[in-house]
Amino acid sequence: MNRAMNFSAGPAALPLAALVRAQSELVDFDHSGMSIMEQSHRGKVYENVHHEAITLVSELLELPKDYEVLFVQGGASTAFAQIAMNFLEAGKTADYVVNGSWGEKAVNEGRAMVNVSGGTIHVAASTKKDKNYVRVPRQDELTLTSDAAYVHITSNETIHGVEFAVTERTPFPKVSAPLVCDMSSVILGRRIDVTPFDFIYAGAQKNIGPSGVTIIVAKKSMLDRGRKDLPAVLQYRVHAENKSLYNTPPTFGVYLVRNTLAWLKAEGGVAWVEKRNRDKARVLYDVIDNSGGFYRCPVEPDSRSIMNVVWRLPTPELEEAFVKETTHARMIGLKGHRSVGGIRASIYNAVEPEGVAALASFMKDFAARHG
Ligand SMILES: *Cc1c(COP(=O)(O)O)cnc(C)c1O
Repeated sequence: MNRAMNFSAGPAALPLAALVRAQSELVDFDHSGMSIMEQSHRGKVYENVHHEAITLVSELLELPKDYEVLFVQGGASTAFAQIAMNFLEAGKTADYVVNGSWGEKAVNEGRAMVNVSGGTIHVAASTKKDKNYVRVPRQDELTLTSDAAYVHITSNETIHGVEFAVTERTPFPKVSAPLVCDMSSVILGRRIDVTPFDFIYAGAQKNIGPSGVTIIVAKKSMLDRGRKDLPAVLQYRVHAENKSLYNTPPTFGVYLVRNTLAWLKAEGGVAWVEKRNRDKARVLYDVIDNSGGFYRCPVEPDSRSIMNVVWRLPTPELEEAFVKETTHARMIGLKGHRSVGGIRASIYNAVEPEGVAALASFMKDFAARHG
């Protein structure tokens, strides 16, 4: 097999070991005579997989006892609205710190819920104005509401390649209200102290599995605060009380999350993968910064994502040629998001350093030919 070098932003590369395991277990799961997809979600066979996946998330994140792990559906996009639905009480304000398009979407979806919530959405900082998202906001730029229902941040902006806490000069915001964080494109890609965060959510398809599973990591006290007058399936509390088995979970997706996280644990866990991810990112940023201006990363160094490396070439024609030639060389998914253009290499956990080295060497060669 000639496996492609997959730099897609999401759905994204999965570890080969997780796929091979799925292949070998597919038709007859654990001598049950059925695949995992065909098992009842109330049966022992699936339940074991389900709880193993939850345990892996909590081990790998080193969660304290007062946190719950949930698997729900709808993707991060549904969570944008659902978070406001659950946690923005009438008469209260939720603060949003915005450093890219996903944060903007979270604001818009929160606003779409104000008729339900009766609360207000306040943009407490946005780095759009000063040069269209090339850095995260500084603490002294935040206009936080006192007694806010929560503060929402996006730890890594997948489209703009702008990430919090890449260095000690770009720390996560310090807030007194509950901190809610969209970690879709970086969860389990680097070590994180979860204790400042009250509610973390992520679509699985970037870093830890296939699409269709949304992971929630939240303090029990936060889940308990959620509104009780919503449809049951929209209340995070209900999923927590039922160990994410209130209704049918995305069973095959949870199974693949299990395989992916079992791979991560066996390889050395989050500390191992963080080093690997930072090394991969450095390889690409070094090529960009040493290209004599041929490649240009618009993002300020302290905010440069370790997961989504974005850069420009001198002209749109060269960018098009770059994408065409890389695709020909089996390097897939390097075209920047349609809203911003340019090039983006998504180098999530499962992307092998060899692929990144191949891309770096292609970049040098391309610059030498066209520079
Ligand atoms: C991909 C992504 C989303 C959207 O996720 P869906 O699962 O497609 O709804 C939201 N936020 C971030 C940071 C993302 O990377």
